[in-house]
Amino acid sequence: MNYERQPYRRCGRSGLQLPAVSLGLWHNFGGGKPLDSQRAILHKALDLGITHFDIADRYGPPLGAAESTFGTIFRQDLRGHRDEIVVTTKGSNPMWDGPYGKGNSRKHLLATLDRSLDRLGLDFVDIFYLHRDDDATPLEEQVSTLDHMVRTGRVLYVGVSNFSPERTAEAARLARDLGTPLVVHQPVYSMIRRGIEESLLGVLEREGMGCVVYSPLAQGLLTDRYLNGIPADSRAAEGRFLTADRVTPEVLTFVRALGELASARGQTVAQLALAWALRDPRITSVLVGASSPEQLAANVAAVDRLDFTTDELAQIDRAIKE
Ligand code: NDP
Repeated sequence: MNYERQPYRRCGRSGLQLPAVSLGLWHNFGGGKPLDSQRAILHKALDLGITHFDIADRYGPPLGAAESTFGTIFRQDLRGHRDEIVVTTKGSNPMWDGPYGKGNSRKHLLATLDRSLDRLGLDFVDIFYLHRDDDATPLEEQVSTLDHMVRTGRVLYVGVSNFSPERTAEAARLARDLGTPLVVHQPVYSMIRRGIEESLLGVLEREGMGCVVYSPLAQGLLTDRYLNGIPADSRAAEGRFLTADRVTPEVLTFVRALGELASARGQTVAQLALAWALRDPRITSVLVGASSPEQLAANVAAVDRLDFTTDELAQIDRAIKE
């Protein structure tokens, strides 16, 4: 583990610190990929000071496969490092058939967490998130289930993902009353998805919650990946979550404009996009995906230049609006 490579930021007002750049296992850790390439990415992450691995029960394919992959590599190589890493998982999205296979009922959440722990080969996860809100389940039940997970030792910290600002504030109040504060929110955020700036970030600051953002590269759109067409091994070619029609002429024009600013700063477009997302101290960490160790190393190098002039920020705002 190389703790010198990147800064660690405090997650809200909790005691937990997270690296500025963290690794998500949504893609590239499913059943169809060679274990050796997955192992290489995880080992590279540790060399880069990435102590924080973001997973969810559903990540694969098939469902659960990313947790199983992580569990296999953890058992083989990382067992002695358990206290040096933060492993997260999430529950809510459909995992099995029937009324108990999805949602935020106590019945589903406790079962999906136990299955996650089995796949991961862990006694506890460091953070458990409600993956999304569930308006069919009382918020009191959702939050008291998180409290129960912590009190029974299966989870150290709890958070929510994809919750609205209003429901986040309400959940935070309920959780605080139970004595198990929500420490983190996980929303989408990038130069082309800036919604959290309107009010969520203010709520998180008031509630003392950290903000770990996902898809800061807009799944690869905010990189040089698509400047010369759609590479066969890219996420847009795979077409499951990023479809080729999202690689529009407007996106490419924007990325080319960013390219000029990035090179003036000695960065790639991806590094500029990550540094930009980290410019606000309320952002605890950016969760990146990587299909190779090289991509991950290039992304972590974003931390070498995190400062922005007001002129640079204004240039980016203008390019976004054009
Ligand atoms: P990113 O926006 O970082 O996209 C990652 C993809 O971009 C990579 O897989 C790769 O795609 C491409 N890429 C990354 N770095 C580079 C580079 N330097 N140059 C060129 N292309 C690059 O994040 P993700 O969308 O993967 O999300 C990150 C994590 O966030 C997930 O793994 C998950 O943990 C979490 N997440 C949470 C959600 C939630 O609801 N809570 C929803 C979505 C994600 P390619 O395969 O084409 O090489």
